[in-house]
Amino acid sequence: MNFDLTSSERNTTWNFLWNELEDYYSKTEKQRTAIYPERKEVVHALDSDFEQPRSTKEAVEYVLKSLSKYAVHTPHPAYYGMFNPRANFPSILADVISAVYNPQLAAWGHAPFAVEVEHMLIQRIGEKFGYTAPNIDGVFATGGQEAHITGLLCALHEKYPDFASSGVQGLEKLPVVYCSSASHHATIKAARVCGLGGSAVKYIEVDDEQRMRVDELERQIKEDLELGLQPFFVFATMGTTGSGAIDPLPEINEIAKQYNLWVHADAAYGGAVRLTKEHTELLDGIENTDSITFDAHKWLSVPMAASLFITKHRYALGKAFSISANFMPEEEDEIDRLSSYTHSIQWSRRFIGLKLYLPLLVFGWEGYEETILHQIRMGDYLREQLLANGWKIYNHSQLPIVCFTDERMEEDAAFSKFVYDRTLEKGNAWIINYPYGKYATLRACITNYNTTEKHIDDLIDWLNENREEYLK
Ligand SMILES: *Cc1c(COP(=O)(O)O)cnc(C)c1O
Repeated sequence: MNFDLTSSERNTTWNFLWNELEDYYSKTEKQRTAIYPERKEVVHALDSDFEQPRSTKEAVEYVLKSLSKYAVHTPHPAYYGMFNPRANFPSILADVISAVYNPQLAAWGHAPFAVEVEHMLIQRIGEKFGYTAPNIDGVFATGGQEAHITGLLCALHEKYPDFASSGVQGLEKLPVVYCSSASHHATIKAARVCGLGGSAVKYIEVDDEQRMRVDELERQIKEDLELGLQPFFVFATMGTTGSGAIDPLPEINEIAKQYNLWVHADAAYGGAVRLTKEHTELLDGIENTDSITFDAHKWLSVPMAASLFITKHRYALGKAFSISANFMPEEEDEIDRLSSYTHSIQWSRRFIGLKLYLPLLVFGWEGYEETILHQIRMGDYLREQLLANGWKIYNHSQLPIVCFTDERMEEDAAFSKFVYDRTLEKGNAWIINYPYGKYATLRACITNYNTTEKHIDDLIDWLNENREEYLK
């Protein structure tokens, strides 16, 4: 079997594939954003039993057609959905390059360039968050979920020196993790993966703007101390998935200092504002946190799966992931420290950082800043147009996430559901219905750097149309 195929077969397939992909990329708007397939139909589409080999071109053609038909088109400029972006072009090339070279980043010696690139990116982005060398350390992760788990494990090993050998059974008191009730459920999963269990996570009430209530945080900490539990970790969300709320970080840091908690900033989405000059103050206090989750596969517009875990505790990753029984971080040399198999959850590892490095080489920080500011402006434009068309806005985020509905139907979940369903059925845009406190709102988020005023005008027309249909 020639796994390489012949050079002429390769040429034909590359050319065919490039043309097809270019067609999709340049004409994404021709796709319907939303889809409504029956499961039967999709399963039926998996038509191969692998007994009958087919040509590479045929196989590729079949996969592309199926993806076209059976996927929500997140790269579409009318996808106003969760934080899934359109991938910028250099970041797509990065994935191709990684696949062909397939560098192994587990040990420095196998892929020194790739390892140094990732190390440098962690340092530079750590500095954007206000951390200072030489204390910055971190690691690329597959997503915010893995970055969260990494943060929780670092904190456990830092606070409990025996954790590496004894694990949770060595703990006298149950460690308690705090996060707001509006935070991403990745917090719960992180606690479960670390063996603490879901009940170790305490949800703290939010205020009218869905920000963590610091008075409630302190009340809960005191209650837990009285119960004989060990408060030890808090997730502060920098841009919630639902409404873009930013927890009051300086106040959370104060409480954390007082009660000796590790503060982990969940900047999976909102971290991107640190790449602008105008909006950095939204994340004030992040420099005083212990660690950060920042997803590149969200607002930095690179393909999944790419996230950064960054910490200011230089030895924390080694303590958590080194496999030697008596690990002495101070004695470790620089090369060992860069060998990520002893410093991260993963062992074999892909060159994730290239997805961010290549666009940075091409566009620079300035290109990113311009794009992020454009998306913030489009969020403002969306808010203006909604208000001008008789919709009411419920959240007051400066990030481009808008929770809105018609005030007359603000407690009518059937209305928001109807508008959501109709918008998706028609297939021209993707939004979601989202309960904002007691209000049944709709949520639209600018996740695509190609979204313009024209797209937003169209969205407003469809929303108005669907509202009229409901009121008829
Ligand atoms: C997306 C998201 C996560 C989870 O990150 P993944 O990259 O999906 O694993 C956590 N927190 C917030 C605020 C998010 O938006």
